Amino acid sequence: MTFSVHGLAVSRGIAIGRAVLVASSRADVAHYFIDADKTDAEITRVRVARNAVMEEITRVQQDLPRDAPHELAALLDVHLMLLQDEQLISGVKHWIAERHYNAEWALTTQYEVIARQFDEMEDEYLRERKADLEQVVERILRRMKGAPSPMQQPTRQAGASRKDSNQGLLLDDTVDVPLVLIAHDISPADMLQFKQSLFAGFATDVGGKTSHTAIVARSMDIPAVVGARSASQLIKQDDWVIIDGDMGVLIVDPSPIILAEYGFKQRQGELERERLNRLKHTPALTIDGQRIELLANIEMPEDTAGAVNAGAVGVGLFRTEFLFMGRESKGLGKLPDEEEQYLAYRKAIEGMHGLPVTIRTVDIGADKPLERGKSQETHLNPALGLRAIRWSLADPPMFLTQLRAILRAAVHGPVNLLVPMLAHATEIRQTLALIDHARAGLDNKGIPNGPVRLGAMIEIPAAALTLKLFLKYFDFLSIGTNDLIQYTLAIDRADESVSHLYDPCHPAVLRLIADTIAECNAQGKSVSVCGEMAGDVNMTRLLLGMGLRSFSMHPSQILAVKQQILRADAGKLQAWARQVLDSEEPALLL
Ligand code: PEP
Ligand code: MG
Repeated sequence: MTFSVHGLAVSRGIAIGRAVLVASSRADVAHYFIDADKTDAEITRVRVARNAVMEEITRVQQDLPRDAPHELAALLDVHLMLLQDEQLISGVKHWIAERHYNAEWALTTQYEVIARQFDEMEDEYLRERKADLEQVVERILRRMKGAPSPMQQPTRQAGASRKDSNQGLLLDDTVDVPLVLIAHDISPADMLQFKQSLFAGFATDVGGKTSHTAIVARSMDIPAVVGARSASQLIKQDDWVIIDGDMGVLIVDPSPIILAEYGFKQRQGELERERLNRLKHTPALTIDGQRIELLANIEMPEDTAGAVNAGAVGVGLFRTEFLFMGRESKGLGKLPDEEEQYLAYRKAIEGMHGLPVTIRTVDIGADKPLERGKSQETHLNPALGLRAIRWSLADPPMFLTQLRAILRAAVHGPVNLLVPMLAHATEIRQTLALIDHARAGLDNKGIPNGPVRLGAMIEIPAAALTLKLFLKYFDFLSIGTNDLIQYTLAIDRADESVSHLYDPCHPAVLRLIADTIAECNAQGKSVSVCGEMAGDVNMTRLLLGMGLRSFSMHPSQILAVKQQILRADAGKLQAWARQVLDSEEPALLL
C-alpha cells in the first residue's frame, strides 16, 4: 500500500530506489558491493567468524564453574541457538548472493530485519531476545574485523549504479537497483563515510535543515530529506521508496502511476542540471557588471576536485573538524597529529592549484562531537557550551598543533585562516597570541611557514553587534548564517521539532547580516557568507542587494547560484533589499 512521510527538504532532486535501513549505531560498518565471483568467499568469511564465535561460547560454557548461576548457562544456550538461527544464516546469504552486499553489511541488514520482528512480538521474554541477537551479531562483526575481507578494494560502492542507470526500476532484483539510505539518525562523521558510497538518496527521522548531517548530505548532492519523524519505523528493508528532495516527502511503495510521475520529474531535474552545466565556464557577473566571487565549502581535502570542477575560485570554508571526528572508533587515535594535519591542509591547498583556501580552525562541539553520542551525555545545551574556538582555547597544546600545521601548509599556496564562534575581545586576543606563538615556535626551529590572512566567523549575534572590534583585528569576515540564525532566534538548528521557527528571513537575522556586509564594505574589508544561505538560490538576489559580493557554498550549488547572479542587476536590487529589510515579514517579498 502506498503511503507518504513528510519531512524537511534538504537536498534537491528525486531519488527512486530500494530502502537500505541503517541503524545509527551501524553506520560505521563498511557498506560496499562485492564482485559476483566473490560471493562464496564473502559467505565463507561470515561462516568462519560465526563458527569461531560458537567455539568461543562453547568453551566458555564448558569452563563455567559449578556454582555459576543457572541463568548464565541458559543465556549462552540462547546465544548458541541464535548463532544457528536459520533466518539469520539464510538472510545473510541472500544479501550477499543476491545483492552482493559485503559480509558486514549483509549481517547488519539481516539483523535489522529480524530485530523488527522481535519488536513486534507480544511476548515480553521473546521481545527481549533482540538484545541477545544484537550481542551475537556484534561478536561476529568483531571477529570479522580481525579477519580482513579477501576483497582488497571494494569494487563498487553502494548505489554506484545510479550514475549510469536511473531506470533502476526496470532492473528489479539485480544489484543494479538504486538504493536509498533510511536511518533514524546519522552523525555528521558517519554521513561523511557515506559520501563515497553514492547512495541514490537518503532520509532520516531527525535533524534540521542546517544540522551538520544535513550539510554533509547536501555536499553529496543527492536528494535528501531529514526530520521525517518515524520514517525508519514505517519503512521496511527493501521497500521501494521515492525521495522527493525538493518537497521533503518520502513516498513508500509507490503505485505505477506515481512512479511514472516521479520518473518524469527525475528526468526534468537531470535536464535542468545539464543546462546548468553549460554555465561552468561563464564568469559570475551580474547584468550591471559586478563580479561575484563564488567559493566552495569543503569537509575533506579531496573535496577540492569537486570545487575546481564546479568553477569555484577558491575554498571559502574548509571545515577541518571532519579530520578530528570519529577517529577513536576507527582506531586512529584521539586527535590527528601535526604531520597528519599538515599533509591534509597541504593536499587541499595543492588541490586548488594556486586559488586561495580558507582553513577554519576546528569547530568541535554541539552536533559535531569528537565521538558519536558523546555530546548528549555531557551537557544540556551543547551548542552553547565548549564548542569551536572555546574548545580550542581550552586546550592550547591541541590548538597550537593545528595552528602550526596550517602555518606550515601555507608555504604551498595562499591561505586564509578563519576562526569560528568568536564573541569576546579576550578570545580574539588569546587566539591571536597563540597564532603568534605557533609561528614563533616554527621560526625558532627553522621550520618553513607561510603568510596567512586572518579572518573571523560572524556567527554569534554578539559578534555581529560589535563589528568594530572584529574589523580592528581581522583582515576579513565570514558570516556563518547557520549559527547566526540559531543563536539569534534561540532555535536549535538540529532539532526538527522547532524547524518551522528556524527562519533565515526573520527581520533580526537579516538586519545582522545586512549591517555586517555594509560595515565591511564601508571599511574596504572583504566579507563573505559561508552558511547555507549562500547556496540558497532564493536568497541570492537579497544578498546581492545587501551588497554581498562573495558567496561560499558546497560545489553542487555553485552553478545554480551563478544562474541567479547572471540574471540579477545588483544596482537595482539595492532599493528592493532595503524594502525587504524594513518589512515585518520579509519572506513574503522574496
Ligand atoms: C555557519 O554556522 O553558518 C557555518 C558556516 O559554520 P557551521 O555550519 O560549520 O557551524
Ligand atoms: Mg557555525
